[in-house]
Amino acid sequence: MSIKSRIRTIAHYPHEGIMFRDITTLLKDPVGLRATIQELVGHYRTLEIDKVAGIESRGFIIGAPVAYELGLGFVPVRKQGKLPAETRGRDYQLEYGSDRVEIHVDAIQAGERVLLVDDLIATGGTAEAAAGLIQEMGGEVVECCFVIDLPAVGGRARLERHGLKVFALCEFEGG
Ligand code: AMP
Repeated sequence: MSIKSRIRTIAHYPHEGIMFRDITTLLKDPVGLRATIQELVGHYRTLEIDKVAGIESRGFIIGAPVAYELGLGFVPVRKQGKLPAETRGRDYQLEYGSDRVEIHVDAIQAGERVLLVDDLIATGGTAEAAAGLIQEMGGEVVECCFVIDLPAVGGRARLERHGLKVFALCEFEGG
């Protein structure tokens, strides 16, 4: 069962030169969707984890069923202005400009062990900001997990330099 073979690549989307790794082809396939969730659940079943945090928006699609299967709660890390209650936020740099992720102040209790989930790691900027927020709230980031790693872009190395553990189900060459 190949998860990687079910991921579609769209060249030059959303910008010239970007190879967009499109997981909709994986998600619409019942075998692909189940294998993705089961592989992640299998990897984390024996680890001590209190909560799963997913990064908007594809991190929600992967993170929520992983949390459900592990019998854990799920918390969303969202883009600026989307969460209704009191939030904490962190800005991070994009290739052009900056962005911001936010989390509810009551989403994570001090000492909780949190698994951070997104669909893909490229530069690692988004995950680094989300992990930083969780740590700022007293949470411990057990691991950052992704369906796809783009090692050439350097996100994994960047997170590892900050002492974060990284796990991905497959890798693609290039950016
Ligand atoms: P980064 O902060 O650079 O690690 O970017 C990660 C976020 O951007 C993830 O939420 C991805 O969904 C999205 N992303 C970045 N590059 C790609 C790509 N080549 N294909 C699909 N999604 C991407």
